[in-house]
Amino acid sequence: MNNDELTYKDSDGSLVVIMQAVHKLLRSYRQLESDSTEAAGVLIGERRGRHIVICDMSEPGKGDIRNRFGVNRKGLHHQAKVDLVFERSDGAQQYLGEWHTHPENLPSPSSIDENSWRLNLANHKPMILLIVGREGLWIAKQNGNVISPLTMME
Ligand SMILES: [Zn+2]
Repeated sequence: MNNDELTYKDSDGSLVVIMQAVHKLLRSYRQLESDSTEAAGVLIGERRGRHIVICDMSEPGKGDIRNRFGVNRKGLHHQAKVDLVFERSDGAQQYLGEWHTHPENLPSPSSIDENSWRLNLANHKPMILLIVGREGLWIAKQNGNVISPLTMME
C-alpha cells in the first residue's frame, strides 16, 4: 500500500476512486504503535454518474472519543467540514460516508460497525464505508441495508 490514488470496483462495474491526498491522510492515522487509538471521520467527494470520487475527508478532533478499540465520532467539526466543502464546491462535493481505523493489519468490520452503519447510514444513494488497517484498507459500498466490499483494481 503506497501513497498513490486508489481505484476500487463494485460488482456492477462502478468505480470508487480515493484521491491521492485523501489516501495519504488516511494512512497517517494508521494505528502503528501499541498505544495508538482509533481515529474516525467522514468521507467527502463527488458522485459522477454511478461512480464516486473521494476528494476530501474530516479528521479526528475535539469532542471525538478515541480508544484503542473503538471510536465515537462526536466532534462537531466533522459536519462543519462537510458544510464548508459543500459550499466551496457549489454543492459538487458532499458527504459520502464514514472512515475509521482498526489496530489490525488487514481490517474487517466488527458487528458493532455493521450495526451502526445499517442504523445510521441507510440512504437512497450508495454510501462508502472505509476502514484503515496497518497494512491495508477495507472499503465497501452500502446500498440500503446491503454492505458489499469493493475490490481494488490493479
Ligand atoms: Zn470498526
